Amino acid sequence: LKDVIVRATEMTVPRLEEKNMSFEAEIEQDVIVEGDSNRLIQVVMNLITNATTYSLENTKIKVKLYEQNNNGVIEIIDEGIGIEKTEIPRIFERFYRVDRARSRNSGGTGLGLAIVKHLIEAHHGKIQVDSVVGEGTTMRVILPQKQPN
Ligand code: ATP
Ligand code: MG
Repeated sequence: LKDVIVRATEMTVPRLEEKNMSFEAEIEQDVIVEGDSNRLIQVVMNLITNATTYSLENTKIKVKLYEQNNNGVIEIIDEGIGIEKTEIPRIFERFYRVDRARSRNSGGTGLGLAIVKHLIEAHHGKIQVDSVVGEGTTMRVILPQKQPN
């Protein structure tokens, strides 16, 4: 998963620079999972793009990778606008966008997270959201580690 993070990050650098945002990666150890690396890169790219879109300029995004209970865990942590608790279950629906995001005219379609969730589930994983309005959001992707045969 380390490679996945490195490659997803490389592709989102221009977007981060555009908003003058800083980026930090905290990779505790590499974790090997089974699956399609391009799809997983797509997942992480999508989450970093959201973290960038729903944050103000000059804030920071952090990406962590660690192993926990035989899972690889990737966290994408932003200091952005946050998501209301009641909205959290809905953001994974197709075409769903939180009002504020809509009015900010950020030009998205609301498909990103629906695709992200689908791809994570295809890898037998799951996604969790921790968010505080006005403080920021953590998206946590949990993927089963590849088992040695
Ligand atoms: P796109 O299809 O281009 O990704 P989108 O970003 O609006 O469009 P999703 O990525 O599916 O769609 O996200 C759905 C909604 O969830 C967003 O419109 C936004 O309201 C909210 N959201 C997603 N990520 C974050 C985040 N990191 N911080 C705050 N709100 C978020
Ligand atoms: Mg999006």
